[in-house]
Amino acid sequence: MSAGLVQAAYIIAAVFFIMSLAGLSKQETARSGNYYGIAGMAIALLATIFGPHSSGIAWILLAMVVGGGIGIHYAKKVEMTEMPELVAILHCFVGMAAVLVGYNSLLDAPEAATHAEHVIHLVEVYLGVFIGAVTFTGSIVAFGKLRGIISSSPLNLPHKHKLNLAAIVVSALLLKWYLGGDGALFPLFLMTLIAFAFGYHLVASIGGADMPVVVSMLNSYSGWAAAAAGFMLANDLLIVTGALVGSSGAILSYIMCKAMNRSFISVIAGGFGQEVAVSTGDEEQGEHRESTAEEVAEMLKNSKSVIITPGYGMAVAQAQYPVHEITDKLRAQGIEVRFGIHPVAGRLPGHMNVLLAEAKVPYDIVLEMDEINDDFTETDTVLVIGANDTVNPAALEDPTSPIAGMPVLEVWNAQNVVVFKRSMNTGYAGVQNPLFFKENSSMLFGDAKDSCLKIIEHL
Ligand code: NDP
Repeated sequence: MSAGLVQAAYIIAAVFFIMSLAGLSKQETARSGNYYGIAGMAIALLATIFGPHSSGIAWILLAMVVGGGIGIHYAKKVEMTEMPELVAILHCFVGMAAVLVGYNSLLDAPEAATHAEHVIHLVEVYLGVFIGAVTFTGSIVAFGKLRGIISSSPLNLPHKHKLNLAAIVVSALLLKWYLGGDGALFPLFLMTLIAFAFGYHLVASIGGADMPVVVSMLNSYSGWAAAAAGFMLANDLLIVTGALVGSSGAILSYIMCKAMNRSFISVIAGGFGQEVAVSTGDEEQGEHRESTAEEVAEMLKNSKSVIITPGYGMAVAQAQYPVHEITDKLRAQGIEVRFGIHPVAGRLPGHMNVLLAEAKVPYDIVLEMDEINDDFTETDTVLVIGANDTVNPAALEDPTSPIAGMPVLEVWNAQNVVVFKRSMNTGYAGVQNPLFFKENSSMLFGDAKDSCLKIIEHL
């Protein structure tokens, strides 16, 4: 393939990536957005592999078969509830790739035309390795926190902000040494170790409730790491793609921060979520009432309006299908049923929307938190299906709570609230939920899917 043809293919691939992002921004067009992304990536791969700068195609194909095989295996095996962990671990690969590309392009750099170009290349390598290393360890910690291998409470080292600042200042000093030594390996290596520790500390310091911002932030970092690798390899498409991922991740982080009423700087500096005393179900705050499936079915039949607020537990139980069936049955009886979706419900941005779309719940009855929050006062029954932090009144009522200030679905304003969960355990942020002890709340204990199926029998 000639260089001109490769450039043309890159432009077409970049357009496909932009169309992909546009498609992914709406549920109705998300599927086609995915197809555009696949098409763009296929064109990009073909153009790169068969382009004039590639050699050893057999090795590339072998690596692709092995890597692709592992990828297909995991993509098929992974449960929907494990998607956030998968995303986190994929970010860590991008980070490590940027580190390796950095070292490789330093050791194997072609002769630069001018001194200025040479210095620019050295700086590209340094920044690429720094961003990549931070992304690598940060993503591993995020993976551990999401999987529950690492505690979701924030790591509170003494002088943590000073430690972060010191890491940045020392890295900047090492840059001077590295440039002075014309790309000296030792300072680069030292900086890599510091960046690994910095990435670890940055994410470990963030409390469980702020994890949505971390996930989107690492998404953004992985994009910038890819863009940095693009500069090092002088690959325009990698720069464009990395910048698209980096900026869309940054926009998502901003949206997440807004949804959680957090400042981005405070979250990444670990300012929130200090010393979360992860409480257990033992720390109850009063008496709770229990309901049976039959009673809930009766309550639903006597309602005129129902709102369903799903959360992570719906994903675990895979309850979206019976939830849809309940919705259909109630709507057939003339009862208004709508869904209220909190922006950080579940473990991924848009997690609940994906599950409801999978179960073919009509889009027009699925509303965002801001669109539905004022309507709870006129609602007869709210079904809280496996949600906890996102319906926790402590966020508004208790200024000392780790989730204080986060807007939540104000379900307690409805006439009746039924909470579907298996126990009195806390949600992801580890905070007990006063909703469970309110007079108009009752608990329907058990796996959410089983509970829904039992309700369907009585409807
Ligand atoms: P939570 O994690 O707060 O609570 C989920 C609840 O579901 C648990 O209390 C659990 O209680 C219940 N549950 C689990 N399995 C089942 C089951 N099989 N059947 C019935 N219930 C079940 O969920 P939310 O969606 O309300 O909140 C999301 C949390 O995750 C927030 O803190 C958010 O910040 C965080 N987060 C969100 C991300 C995102 O991008 N959306 C990313 C990372 C973190 P029990 O064990 O008693 O059944």
